[in-house]
Amino acid sequence: MNTIQGSSTEQRRRVGLVYDERMCKHYDPCDENHEECPGRILSIWNKLTSTGLTKRCLVFGAKEVDEKYISAVHTNDHVDLIKTISSNSERNDEARGYSSVYFNDGSSESAYLAAGSVVEAAEKVAKGELNSAFAIVRPPGHQAEDCKPMGFCLFNNVAIATSFLLNQKELGINKILIVDWDVHHGNGTQKMFYDDPRVLYFSVHRHDSFVFVLNGKVRHERFYPGGDNGSHIMTGSGQGLGYNINVPWLNGGCGDADYITVWNHILIPVAREFKPDVIMVSAGFDAAMGDPLGGCCVTPKGYALMLQKLMEFSSGKIVMALEGGYNLESTSNSVHACMEVLLDNKPIDESVKDDPLNSTWE
Ligand code: ZN
Repeated sequence: MNTIQGSSTEQRRRVGLVYDERMCKHYDPCDENHEECPGRILSIWNKLTSTGLTKRCLVFGAKEVDEKYISAVHTNDHVDLIKTISSNSERNDEARGYSSVYFNDGSSESAYLAAGSVVEAAEKVAKGELNSAFAIVRPPGHQAEDCKPMGFCLFNNVAIATSFLLNQKELGINKILIVDWDVHHGNGTQKMFYDDPRVLYFSVHRHDSFVFVLNGKVRHERFYPGGDNGSHIMTGSGQGLGYNINVPWLNGGCGDADYITVWNHILIPVAREFKPDVIMVSAGFDAAMGDPLGGCCVTPKGYALMLQKLMEFSSGKIVMALEGGYNLESTSNSVHACMEVLLDNKPIDESVKDDPLNSTWE
């Protein structure tokens, strides 16, 4: 599927959709029930085709990313690891050296295609060929750090595309807002742009701690990826001071009202001041209702509203890339709701069912 299809009606918003089944080649060889499974992107694609939505988009297949764009944010050792891991017979042992990562014979190709998809979508949006785009990719990326894969992420797809846009001077992109609404903190993305004032990284994620007993000792740990990097006091450094914003949830159970409150009180005022040229969305749907990992309850309408509130910025130049999201039905329905926003940008009724939790106001 490498042809562009869809409507050419002038008035319609031109929305790109990247999908390529080759990204299903990456799966956990030791656990067929692993949450980060090929069915994630298949079910999204099936949902979008069954409702006829793909016919309204410009659909294109993935291209492998040019290595020089990966090297702008990842170390050479990291690039070599992912490039060669699928031909490495010791790859299962290698994987154990990292946190929540698996490798198989399709991992290298899938990682290159995922990053390439987001770069291509971003380039087309920056050039004005598309108004906006959604890249349905896996493996996800936002937790991959400059020097290591982690948290199901091999290459940091959104970070690679962000640095690509900034480095292609002829595109005229000088300021990028990254909105990371995955339920996990995007530690990798934060680290890569921590001192860069051209990139405003905004993440809302669970950061609550829990107590457990290991080897007879009581331990405290935070929601994955743990540690303090997702804290609200991480605000950037050097020239980038003030350009890193974390909204850490103190508990699970957050829903539409909590997210919309944070949008209205923090993200939207900040975005108005920052005036991004492009918005990249690290679109994880693991805060969606019924997700087995996230423990939150955002509805498809909630995601649509969050996205719709971003449409007033950067002339609607929004590039979305799939991150997490492990309840296949919730994820597919949420992606569908977001695609309708990108295509139609119709006003959405802002009333949500509940009030925000007290911990959200804190
Ligand atoms: Zn996640």
